Amino acid sequence: MKRKIIIFGILSFFLLGMLPARADKYGFVRKVVIDPGHGGKDPGAIGSKAKEKDIVLAISLQLGDYIKQNFDDVEVIYTRTTDEFIELHRRAQIANENKADLFISIHCNASRSNSAYGSETFVMGLHRSQQNLEVAKKENASILYESDYLETYDGYDPNSPESNIIFSMFQNIYLDQSLRVASLVQNQFRDRAGRHDRGVKQAGFLVLYNITMPGILVEAGFLSHAQEERYLMSERGQSHIASAIFRAFREYKQMQDAIAQQHLENINARAITHQVNDASEPTVVLNEESSIHFRVQFATTTVEKPLNTPEFKGLHGIRFYIHDGNYKYTVGNEKTLEDAVKIQKDLHEMGFSDAFVVAFKNDERIAPAEAIRLLNQNIQTP
Ligand SMILES: [Zn+2]
Repeated sequence: MKRKIIIFGILSFFLLGMLPARADKYGFVRKVVIDPGHGGKDPGAIGSKAKEKDIVLAISLQLGDYIKQNFDDVEVIYTRTTDEFIELHRRAQIANENKADLFISIHCNASRSNSAYGSETFVMGLHRSQQNLEVAKKENASILYESDYLETYDGYDPNSPESNIIFSMFQNIYLDQSLRVASLVQNQFRDRAGRHDRGVKQAGFLVLYNITMPGILVEAGFLSHAQEERYLMSERGQSHIASAIFRAFREYKQMQDAIAQQHLENINARAITHQVNDASEPTVVLNEESSIHFRVQFATTTVEKPLNTPEFKGLHGIRFYIHDGNYKYTVGNEKTLEDAVKIQKDLHEMGFSDAFVVAFKNDERIAPAEAIRLLNQNIQTP
């Protein structure tokens, strides 16, 4: 029962601040939201001298400057430019309202062990280790500075294991793009800024939860590590970090813009063919509610696999869809999220520990939050 309440609660949080508009998967990168973590009464991690909120603001402003100096066609939006407290849900809202193409949240880490050091970049998803979960819990704990956090986040409690597990089940629909940006950032940290590379990781971050575009959360380094703290406090260190993220942004933009350009050309080519072949296609009115389904994705491969492959033994109703050139395998085709979650649990017990829920509208993959919003809309308007 308790679990049900939490599920329901977190789902309704989904709907808060949700906007129907989302970034175009094949869109150009024209708008970036830079989110310096913490601020005001929330200092974030604290080193022997440094406060996370100050360091991440300096890095963020510098990153924004690099982008503005180098790209006339990119608008930079900050969630804060001064030492002020901004609620976590508000940060995502700023990105959504502005229909940003990319969201970059910048943070610094701290650990009880003062030997931990290095940089890591997170995307929204299921944590594979306790350590990753701890980072998310620590960052999510910012909401404890918000006066009505239990209400705002519908009972989400950063210290409840159950809250965190349910919450991290949802992956951003832009997972592939987010992972791409994250690994570009880590490459730059390692190869150009000479940082210790702790890798690309996944965990459930409240700030990434509701965004409707690709997004990453950068942990630039550890303030609990004496040498790294000095580096992060230094002008040189801050500009290294900012320019590493900038170079990753530049690479991502070049890639993404090339894809967008190609997509645009394909659409134009198709539109011309369409005009020639069929001038009067009837308009199909679809019942939105019945067209929405939840499935559980359990495997991704680069080459197509027969559905009776031994690896998929014991699974029924397998189907696949192709996405970004990969084959993605799912089971289930449920009308409610709750039913999909049950299947996901079964899959976890069968050893498919990475299985997660994906939503489809007319067989096209959409964000689970979007699916829930559409279902809800349908119920409310008879
Ligand atoms: Zn932080």
